[in-house]
Amino acid sequence: MMVREIGAKAILSTSKVYDYVVNPYTGCEHACTYCYARFMKRFTGHAEPWGAFVDVKTNAPELLEKELCRKREGTVWVSGVCDPYQPLEARYALTRRCLEILARSAWPVFVQTRSPLVLRDLDIFRDAGRFEVGMSVTTADDTVRSLFEPHAPTIADRLAALDALHRSGVRTYAMIAPMLPGAQNLAEPLAGKADYVIIDRMNYRHADWVFRKYRLPDTRTDEFVHRAGRELASAFRKLGIACSIVC
Ligand code: SF4
Repeated sequence: MMVREIGAKAILSTSKVYDYVVNPYTGCEHACTYCYARFMKRFTGHAEPWGAFVDVKTNAPELLEKELCRKREGTVWVSGVCDPYQPLEARYALTRRCLEILARSAWPVFVQTRSPLVLRDLDIFRDAGRFEVGMSVTTADDTVRSLFEPHAPTIADRLAALDALHRSGVRTYAMIAPMLPGAQNLAEPLAGKADYVIIDRMNYRHADWVFRKYRLPDTRTDEFVHRAGRELASAFRKLGIACSIVC
């Protein structure tokens, strides 16, 4: 893993998903095979493949402090093109320091991860009150997870973390994106752990080879996405969990 400490020029960027996005890192150790964020590589000068490098924005908290004063209040997504709780966060705590700054503002914050390291910052989420924390869960089958997301935490660890957050009174959501084989069985595992669920189709053409190599059932078709999405949404509603589909 090539790790480089850098000074970023800006940290509070405008976003199409929320008003702003904060990415304390460029690059992601989770290296998901389908990752949509790999386009970021072309802005870094790295020759390593996506998942084999991380640029650590060591000045992210200082930048954020300044930019929060200058910009109009809005919703903030942490993060869009990296996992804010990838393993390096245990060492650098940049996400934590950014969240501490956001907690002192009144801005609504949406934290999204695949890692139980998020539990380290439970004190911030609880005290701030208005933070929502999302766990990306792409399948109920951990064997499938290991093929598409070999370096990311197990599904069981993600579900346990989401459960702990929810039980602690934090508003939680599950992001099912992309729908991998086995995603259609996620209603029961997520019951009682999330306040709401978002199903997003996503473009995951980078992982076409995984489907081919392991001869997996194809979950990329319109037919699967619409049918499984509808059935899942209905199962979540029966469990009292609001569900929206972005397809
Ligand atoms: S965790 Fe997110 S940003 Fe990181 S590799 Fe996976 S999909 Fe990409």
